[in-house]
Order: sequence, then C-alpha cells, then structure tokens
Amino acid sequence: MFQRFLFFSHRYYRRFWYGLITLIVTVSISLLNIQPSYGISWLELMIRGIQIVQISNISNAQEVELGQAINQELVKSGQAKIYRNQSINNYINQIGQRLAKTSQRSNISYTFQVVDDDSINAFATMGGYVYVNKGLIAAADNESELASVIGHEIGHIAGRHGIEQMRDRALAQGLLSAAGLDRNNAVQIGVELAVSRPNSRSDELEADRFGLENMTKARYAPAGILGFMQKLLERGGSTPGFLSTHPATSDRIRILQQQINPQTANTGSGLDNRAYKSRIRSL
Ligand code: ZN
Repeated sequence: MFQRFLFFSHRYYRRFWYGLITLIVTVSISLLNIQPSYGISWLELMIRGIQIVQISNISNAQEVELGQAINQELVKSGQAKIYRNQSINNYINQIGQRLAKTSQRSNISYTFQVVDDDSINAFATMGGYVYVNKGLIAAADNESELASVIGHEIGHIAGRHGIEQMRDRALAQGLLSAAGLDRNNAVQIGVELAVSRPNSRSDELEADRFGLENMTKARYAPAGILGFMQKLLERGGSTPGFLSTHPATSDRIRILQQQINPQTANTGSGLDNRAYKSRIRSL
C-alpha cells in the first residue's frame, strides 16, 4: 500500500514537472509572439522608466503638457519660426483670448503665436497652441476675417482632432502598445502632424462649424468667415495648407452660408477695414 502510494506520487510528481515545463514553454512562446505587436513590454517600460501617454483617455492636463513639448520642439527646430513683433503678437493674442473664452473648450489655456512666413496659413497643435502666419494676417481685410481663421483653429483643438490623428498615426506606425504611447514618440508625431496637417473632410467641416459658432458668441460679425474664404477662392492657385485640399473651398462656403442668417451676417464687430490695416501697420 505504502509502496503503491509512493509509486503514484512519484508519477504525479513527474507529471507535475512535465506540466510546468510545458506551461513555461507555452507562456514563453506566446510572450515572444506578443512582444513585437505590443512594441515594448511592461517590464522594459518599468526598467527604462519610459513615460507613457494614454492616448485614448488623455486628460486635459496631459494634453496641455504634450502641446507644450510639441510647441517647444516646433520652435526649437525652426519648423515654426516665431515672428518677434510685440505689437502684432499682442493683437493676435487679444483676438485669440477673446475667442478662447467663448470656445467649445474654454477650460484650457491657449497660446497664440505669429509665424514669420509670408504664405497664407495657420495651424494648431493639441493643448491650446495656435499659430498664424504673417502672410495670413496681411491677406485678411479686417479683424473679423482674421478671427474666423483663429476660430477655425481653436475648433480643431476643441474637437480634439490632433489627439485622434496622433492615435491613428501611432497605430499605423506600430507605436501604440497596450500600455499607451511612448511620450517621445508622441511629441515626434505631434510635430509631424503640426507640419503636415492631415485634417480630414469631417475635421475641417467641424472646425468650420465650431469656428463660426464661436465667433458669433464672441460678437464678431459672421460675414468675416465668408469674406475670407471668398477671397481665397477668387485668388485661385493652390489652396492654403490650413484649408486642406478637401473639402473644396466652394463647398465650405456653401455649407457656411446655410449656417449664417443673412440678416445678421454683418452684425457684430471686426468689419472696419481701415481700423484693421492701421492696427497691423507694423507688419
Ligand atoms: Zn482646418
């Protein structure tokens, strides 16, 4: 009896070890299989102390912090050459803060900067950073037109378009792990997005709608947005980057016209062309 028990226990003991070895091998193989698609393991993250950004549910504070880092990189690398003109900077900031207050996302702070570039362009990065080219300020006829562009860019931030694009790009490049996105990669992607501005048709239309709503709330005459787009349409040539290649400017004008009441299109401030030209004289 005792002998038999020993025999059985010995057999079970051997089975246990075989089982354990099989389990270890299986786990190792599956870990090896998982590893490349997850990019980086939890253990490696812990050892290397990498900061991870949870793109899917990023907080406002995290987004602002990321925006600061992207802005720093854009400026440092010269990809956004900041125009140092106190009077113009103050003016852009004044228009921007007026719109930020009434925007769909007024609970974060915004930074408005002028880029020393003569092309008609504007762009934004996440966390409240808006950039307006010198060339765009010169091309606008009045403050309402300029406000419509700044409102559009705030609209991209309010719609969190940059975050969505960052997630898509990180996924496409295989950089998004189960844990999230390596912060350095996030900043890198943010800089690329700010420069290339791959806004989709729906992002553009949403930014237009948010921008129009916002400029109306901030008591700017809605006519400015139509005036500026009409001007771009008439100028012909290539569409400025911030308007993207689609939807076509004529489609956007048509959609905006449906949202603007012609009776009140000229109600509000910012339509004084002479006052505007004198305000930007030092440009
Ligand atoms: Zn846009």
